[in-house]
Amino acid sequence: MHGLMMDLPLTIASLIEHADRYHGDTEIVSRRIEDGTIHRTTYRDVHARARRLAAALRGLGVEATTRVGTLAWNGYRHFELYYAVSGIGAVCHTINPRLFPEQIAYIVGHADDQVVCFDLTFLPLVEKLAPHCPGVKHWVAMTDRAHMPASALPLQCFEDLIDAHPDGVEWPALDERSASSLCYTSGTTGNPKGVLYSHRSTVLHAYGACLPDALNLSARDVVLPVVPMFHVNAWGLPYSAPLVGAKLVFPGAALDGASLVELFEAEGVTTSAGVPTIWLGLLAHMKAQGLRFGALKRTVIGGSACPPAMIRTFEDDYGVQVLHAWGMTEMSPLGTVNTFKQRQLALDKTARDAIQNKQGRPIYGVDMKIVGDDGAELPRDGQAFGDLLVRGPWICASYFKGEGGDPLRDGWFPTGDVATLDADGFMQITDRSKDVIKSGGEWISSIDLENTAVAHPDVAEAAVIGVAHPKWDERPLLLVVRKPGATLGREEMLAFFEGKVAKWWLPDDVVFVDALPHTATGKLLKTKLREDYGHWKLPTA
Ligand code: ADP
Repeated sequence: MHGLMMDLPLTIASLIEHADRYHGDTEIVSRRIEDGTIHRTTYRDVHARARRLAAALRGLGVEATTRVGTLAWNGYRHFELYYAVSGIGAVCHTINPRLFPEQIAYIVGHADDQVVCFDLTFLPLVEKLAPHCPGVKHWVAMTDRAHMPASALPLQCFEDLIDAHPDGVEWPALDERSASSLCYTSGTTGNPKGVLYSHRSTVLHAYGACLPDALNLSARDVVLPVVPMFHVNAWGLPYSAPLVGAKLVFPGAALDGASLVELFEAEGVTTSAGVPTIWLGLLAHMKAQGLRFGALKRTVIGGSACPPAMIRTFEDDYGVQVLHAWGMTEMSPLGTVNTFKQRQLALDKTARDAIQNKQGRPIYGVDMKIVGDDGAELPRDGQAFGDLLVRGPWICASYFKGEGGDPLRDGWFPTGDVATLDADGFMQITDRSKDVIKSGGEWISSIDLENTAVAHPDVAEAAVIGVAHPKWDERPLLLVVRKPGATLGREEMLAFFEGKVAKWWLPDDVVFVDALPHTATGKLLKTKLREDYGHWKLPTA
C-alpha cells in the first residue's frame, strides 16, 4: 500500500521559487568583477532574472540535458546561472579556472559543453581555450554592454541576452532524478572525473546542510561562501541559503584577507566557509591590523584538515565557532561536521579540543564505515583505522560516462581516505590512502605531523611526505615554510615534536622551502612534492 501524500519532485527551481515567495526582499550582495564595487539584488529579482536567462539559454539552443559550462567567481550572475540552467533541466557544469588550460579543454570536451559563460577575468583563458573546444557553440561574457571586451572571438553578452527576453520561462516539470549539475574532481592522479548531481541529491543535501548540527543556517544568517562556486557548488551554500532564506554575500574575485574582512564587516556576515589556506591569509590580516569580527558567529573549514592551531585561534582569540567539516566532490560534498553532543559540553577544555580536532559526525543522509585490507569492517573505537567507505542519497554511484568503471564496493563508495570512527560517531581522517607513510609495516599520519608542525609559532605552512628508506621502506620528510622573518632551524623544529607524537613518528629530516605547491582547490599538492623530494637522501638512510 502506497502512502497517500503528494508526490512533488524535489527540484532546484523549487528552492529559488520558495526564496522568491517567502524571502523575496532578502538581499544578495556581490562584489562586482568589473570594478570591485558592490552590487545588490534580492531573491525576488534573482528569480525573475533566472527565468529570463533560462529563456535566453533556450534561444541559444540549450535544452534538457545540454551542458552549460561556467568559468566564474562567486557572484550574482553565477548564482542566476545555477538556477536558470538547472531549472530548465540542463546541466550546470562549473569549471575550475585554476586547472591547467589543457585540463580545462579536456573537461569541456568530455562534458560536451555547448555554451560556456565566463567572468571577464577569464577572457584570456577563454581565448586560449576556444581553439581547443570546437564543440562550444557560444561563449557568453558575464557582463553588460558597457563592459564588453574587445575580442577576436564572437562573444555573447550576458546582460544583452537577459534584456532580449523580457518574459521568463515557466519552470518545466522535471523528474527529480534528472541531472542538474556537473563537477569534475581535481584529478591529482589521472584525468579528472565528472560527478553528475541530480535535482533530488542537491535538494536533499541542501536540507541536510542546514541542520543545526551541520551548518546551522537560518533566515537570520548572512552567509559569505569564500569556497568558490566552482568547487563542489560552493559546498551547496547557493542551494541551502535560499532554502532557509539567508542573505548571501558573494566576494567575487577578491579573496585576500583585507577584502574579505571589509565585506564581513560591511554586510554583517554571520557564517562563512572555506579551505584552511584562505583562513591563513585572513587571520594574518586580522592579527596584523588588530581587527575583531563584528558579527561572524561561525565558519565552516574543510577541504583539507583544519590545523588544530587554527581552530584554537578562531575560537579562543576571536570567539568564532569553527565547524570543521569533511567531504568530497563525490559527496556533494558534505559528509561530516564537527559539533558537540550534549554530554560532551561538560568535558574539560582539553578533552573538548581533542574532539574538535576530528572531522566530525555524519549528518543524516550519510552512512560510513571503516574496513581493513581484507574488506572486513573495523571496530568503531577511535583507535582502529582503515579505508573509509560511505553511502547515501547524495553520494556518487558512478562517474559521468562511466569513467573509471564502477567505483562502488558492495554498494559503498570508497573515499580514498584512511580514518578512525569512535563510539560517538566522530570520524577522524588519518590520511589520504595515497599519502599515508608506511614505515616498517606501520602507518604514520602525514596530517598529524603537519598539524603538529604548524602549531609552532614560526611555521607558516608544513607538508610531510614519505621518502624511500632502505630499512623502514618509507620515512617521513618534513617540508616547512617559515613565517616572514622567522629563523627556526632543523633541531628546534624536531625538538618541537617531542612529547607530541610517538618517537618513531619523528620526521627523519626537515627541509625549509619558500613555498609549497597547491592543487587548484587549495590543497597541498603531494604528487608534486613526491616528484621533487621523493628521492631525498635521508640522514638516517
Ligand atoms: P579532490 O579530491 O578533487 O581534491 P575534493 O574537494 O573532492 O577534491 O577532496 C576530497 C578530499 O579532501 C577528501 O577525500 C579528503 O581527503 C580531503 N578533505 C576534505 N575535507 C577534509 C578535512 N576536513 N580534513 C581532512 N581532509 C579533508
